[in-house]
Order: sequence, then structure tokens, then C-alpha cells
Amino acid sequence: MSLFDKYAPLQKRIDVMNKIGRDALGVQFDDIIDATRGRIGNREILLAGTNNYLGLTFDADCMAAAKQAVDDHGTGTTGSRVANGSYREHVDLEVALADHLGMPSCIVFTTGYQTNLAAISGLAGDKDVIFMDADAHACIIDGTRLTNASTIRFRHNSPEDLDKRLRRQGKIEGGHALVVIEGMYSMFGDIAPIDEFIDVTHRHGGYLYIDEAHSYGVFGPTGCGIAEEQGVLDKVDFISGTFSKSLASVGGFCASRHREFDVTRKVMRPYMFTASATPANICAARVAVDKIKAGGHLRDNLKARAQQLHKGLSDLGYDLCAEPSPVIAARRPNEAICAMEWNWLLDNGLYVNLAVPPGTPQSSSLLRISLSAAHSEADVNEIIAKFAELKGLEGQLMEDMMGKLAG
Ligand code: PMP
Repeated sequence: MSLFDKYAPLQKRIDVMNKIGRDALGVQFDDIIDATRGRIGNREILLAGTNNYLGLTFDADCMAAAKQAVDDHGTGTTGSRVANGSYREHVDLEVALADHLGMPSCIVFTTGYQTNLAAISGLAGDKDVIFMDADAHACIIDGTRLTNASTIRFRHNSPEDLDKRLRRQGKIEGGHALVVIEGMYSMFGDIAPIDEFIDVTHRHGGYLYIDEAHSYGVFGPTGCGIAEEQGVLDKVDFISGTFSKSLASVGGFCASRHREFDVTRKVMRPYMFTASATPANICAARVAVDKIKAGGHLRDNLKARAQQLHKGLSDLGYDLCAEPSPVIAARRPNEAICAMEWNWLLDNGLYVNLAVPPGTPQSSSLLRISLSAAHSEADVNEIIAKFAELKGLEGQLMEDMMGKLAG
């Protein structure tokens, strides 16, 4: 018996994947050329799975801010904001994000993952009850595990089911309900009816927390996210987000319409006991906030590309998981076929995400595309053409796969 015996089923799955092709969870690029192009060996790859929604990773001003930050403040902060102090830039970024969202309070974290760990565990005490969407991201689930609050899951994107569960819960003695949803869900690209969630949550005296990781910068007239798009931003209690997508950096934030949120800095373990975000990350994100506010043209292009791709793949007969959005995922019959197709696409110069359980809802196997405002109409035509070619090869690829698995 070994410590690793429990991973035998996982290892078996990995062995199957490796027989079919590459390790999809360990892709290595030899170069990232710009927001939409990378290189593996001698082959240039069209990047369509990066979450670089606005393409700002190569924005000249964001890059200049990151470089200047290294010159001014060095490469790292070497400590937590509680134990070792904040840099002025951490605080400036909090003020800029709070101002953008029209909220009095905002806290910046070292990653998006830590943001949800910290904020959810900081907000929910022993007597509170967390109501969480069934398709919640791993870091929301992990956030609930850092608390003693009880957790109840409700049906995905169903305010009706939430209402039923809140009613069944009844009065929470000495505590409150914290309802946690996402704006746009990362795997299917489907969108929450936030206005309805606000109604239900507030009718029961609860607080609504929305992770807008995939929607901040991407939706809404000024890029605040789905809540802004639906005209209800001022009613949301907490908005969290990450810097690693539209903000083209690494880090995260949580903002609140409740000024008292600030006190949680003194209790949130994933804020207190980890080093703060680096100067380069913070300064790049600070410039990206301004780009987002003025980024209507980027959002317009992203929307047009999403509609173009959605129509192109639907016309080819692909089973898409949601209406057009910057995340477009095609459901495939099973993990092995999905892996085989994913390998073929990469061999032919297109990088998308292979998304498989447990990271996907409904145990689905997906070819997941995330679009960028930096993609051109021609880029999206190229993606559609590759998927068209793939469709024509289905029979042949299946035969190849059976051969590899038998061998
Ligand atoms: N929330 C959601 C919904 C996410 O999809 C992710 C990561 N993809 C995160 C939070 C964590 O963000 P980060 O990768 O920046 O830590």
C-alpha cells in the first residue's frame, strides 16, 4: 500500500489521455507573442483559450506601468499587508476599483482564488448560512470550507430554487444568509439573472455576493460586469473579481456597498497570512481599470466576435452550452473524444481549453473557447474553419483513437 494508491483511478485517466496525445493539463508554450498568438516549437498557435477577454496583456500602457513599477518598487513585496504594510499602489487600486463600481469599500488580494477564500470566509460566521449556486467555482466552494457556517446549494441559476431553500431555512437565529453566485459562469458562458437573485435574497433579509471574475470588464456600459449590464449594480452587496482575466494581471478584489466590509481585513486569513500582490501586478491592473472604463470599443468588438463564432459553430452543428458570450463551449460526447479533438486542434495551430469533470457542470466534456477583444474577424473565421475541418474528420479521428487506445 502506498500513499498514492488513492490516485490510481486518476492515473488511469491520465494514462488514457497520454495515449491519445498531449497532457492537456500541462501544455507548455515556448513563446507568447501577443494577446492572440503563441508558439509551440516552430508552430504559431492561435490562442482561443486564455480568458484574456480585453486583450490587455500586451497593451502598451499596462506593460509600461508594470515595467515602471519594477524600476520604482522592485520585484516583490516580500510580505503581507497586515504584517509588512501596504504600498501606496495597493491602496490607490482599491480606491480606483471602489470608485469604478460606485461602492464605498474595496479590498485587493493577491489572487482571484484567494479573494473568494478570504471574503467568503471573512463574511460568513459560525451562525450564518451560505447559499451557493450548484455550479459554483472551486474557490467559492473552498471559501465555504474555511468557515464554520453551514452551506446549502441551490439549483444552478435558479432564483426560484433559492427562494424555496431560503423559505425552508426560515429565520436564522443569530445569523444571516449569504447568497453566492457568479455573473458569467466560466465553463458554459451562461449568465445569472442577477436582478431576480437580488429580489429573492433581499426579500429574505440576506446578502448577495457575486463573483464577476469572468464578467468584470466584459459586460456593462462601463465594464463593471453583469450587475451593471442588468442595471442593478447599486443593489448588490458584494462584488468580487480577479485581475487575471480582463485586467490582464494577477490578483483580485472584493468591493461592497457596505462601508463596514473594511473591518474584515483584520480577520481574513488568506489576506493576512500571504504576501501581497507585486508592484508590477498592481500597477498593470491599475492602468487596466482605466482602460476598462473607456473600453466600450473593446467590449463592442468582443460582442461581435462572440456572435460571429456562436453562429459559425451553431451552423456547423456543434452543440453549444449557452447563448453568445465571450465563453463559447461545445459539448462533446465523452472525455476521450474531446481529448482527441483537442489534440487535433492544437496540432493544427488552434489552442482552446479541454474542460472535463470535475471542473465542468453536468460532468460534461467540453471544447471551451474564450474570446478576446484582440481577436479579429479573420481570427474567428480561422477558428470556425478549424472546427469545420475537425467535423469532417470525426470518423477518421475516431479510428485513430481506437488504434492508440488498443496499442
Ligand atoms: N472565480 C472564478 C469564477 C474563476 O473562474 C477563477 C479562475 N478562473 C477565479 C475566481 C480565480 O481567479 P484567479 O485565477 O485569478 O486566481
